[in-house]
Amino acid sequence: MRLYSTNSPDALVDFGEAVLRSLPADNGLYMPEHIPVLDEAFWQTWESMDFQKMAYEVVSKILQGAIPEEQLAEIVSEALNFPAPLATLDEHRRVLELFHGPTLAFKDFGARFMARIMAWLTRDDEQLLTVLVATSGDTGGAVASAFHHVQGTRVIILYPSGKVSGLQEKQLTALGGNITALEIDGSFDDCQRMVKAAFLNPEISKQCNLTSANSINISRLIPQMLYYFEAARQLAIEGKKPPVFVIPSGNFGNLTALLLAKRMGLRVGHIVAATNINDVVPEYLQSAEYKPRPSVATLSNAMDVGAPSNFVRMQELFGNDWKAMASDISGYASDDASTRSAIREVHEKYGYVIDPHGAVGYLAAEAWLADHPDDTMIILETAHPAKFPETITEELGSEALEIPERIACLADQPKVSIPMAASPEALIAWLAEG
Ligand SMILES: *Cc1c(COP(=O)(O)O)cnc(C)c1O
Repeated sequence: MRLYSTNSPDALVDFGEAVLRSLPADNGLYMPEHIPVLDEAFWQTWESMDFQKMAYEVVSKILQGAIPEEQLAEIVSEALNFPAPLATLDEHRRVLELFHGPTLAFKDFGARFMARIMAWLTRDDEQLLTVLVATSGDTGGAVASAFHHVQGTRVIILYPSGKVSGLQEKQLTALGGNITALEIDGSFDDCQRMVKAAFLNPEISKQCNLTSANSINISRLIPQMLYYFEAARQLAIEGKKPPVFVIPSGNFGNLTALLLAKRMGLRVGHIVAATNINDVVPEYLQSAEYKPRPSVATLSNAMDVGAPSNFVRMQELFGNDWKAMASDISGYASDDASTRSAIREVHEKYGYVIDPHGAVGYLAAEAWLADHPDDTMIILETAHPAKFPETITEELGSEALEIPERIACLADQPKVSIPMAASPEALIAWLAEG
């Protein structure tokens, strides 16, 4: 598999380089040079495959031999060791639950796959691979959990002291093993500044074998295709026509993964992009004008993005043709007040507890269904409602809140962190000591 940078289409790199670099030096994004189409034999047998088998077939097709078969099969089965069930609200409304991974959000799919790919790519290195991340909460938890116990790797997380929730802090500080949490006496911006300084320091970067595990890493998008295949397959087994996917979106990585799946041959009825009031993409789909701007805080905070990083990839996939994109994707935006009423409506009508991100998706699904009542909607539930205890309790009462055991047990684990001043020099000195 070869990839180009969206800023210099002629400079091709192999899959390993694209994964370990995350970002090309020219600030573009890596895109596959060629997206292979699944053949007839796949579609004739896909209904009878299990999830892991199908996942392997899809991933090996797109990677085109970049990872040897046996290792790839192992990576896929270790990364996707939790289910993605399709819940039913009613005949036209299904919910694809992507929160069954260790940190309760769909980002576990991408992060777990990336961790194992990186470990394999650096298997012959003498040094450990060091993943350095700054977090304001959720990203660090997903990355830490994904790399936990992965051989040949360690994770160093910087987080602002006193500025993440109690549970988030435990997700960063209670894992131990190859995960180290640096508790910074400063803000998230300080953490980011420190991480940046370490990457820009050539000696440290080399000595520690640093990588960023950035959220736009191409290896995170690839496994995100798989649950679209799985959900569509279940509807195919039920004899239904291809579904309309509704994707609560922020940086639009999840939606880009569906575009890749579609290019590989997955049949999709339509794509609905759901956002909160950070609605740069729905606005573009309406008006053909792209106007990135600073983000605004909302209840569905993982989607508070004013300049979506994957928009460039979306444009690339549509050949920079607005008409083509707007005919495949419809966008709808909702505010916090409607998000709250949607949480109540889904609970009252269907007895289902949906989180604020899924609720934004539900509203977009209703908007689409109003004009297309015969379609089957698959709404992506991107996080577990227990991640948003305040909102859920306010709308549905505390009885509606069930904290999954894998998170509840973290509360009893001791917090272990290394306090550090908010200075790049402090981080560099600490890294240099090894
Ligand atoms: C990251 C995230 C999103 C947005 O996904 P993108 O790929 O950035 O569009 C939506 N919901 C939740 C819960 C998330 O964590």
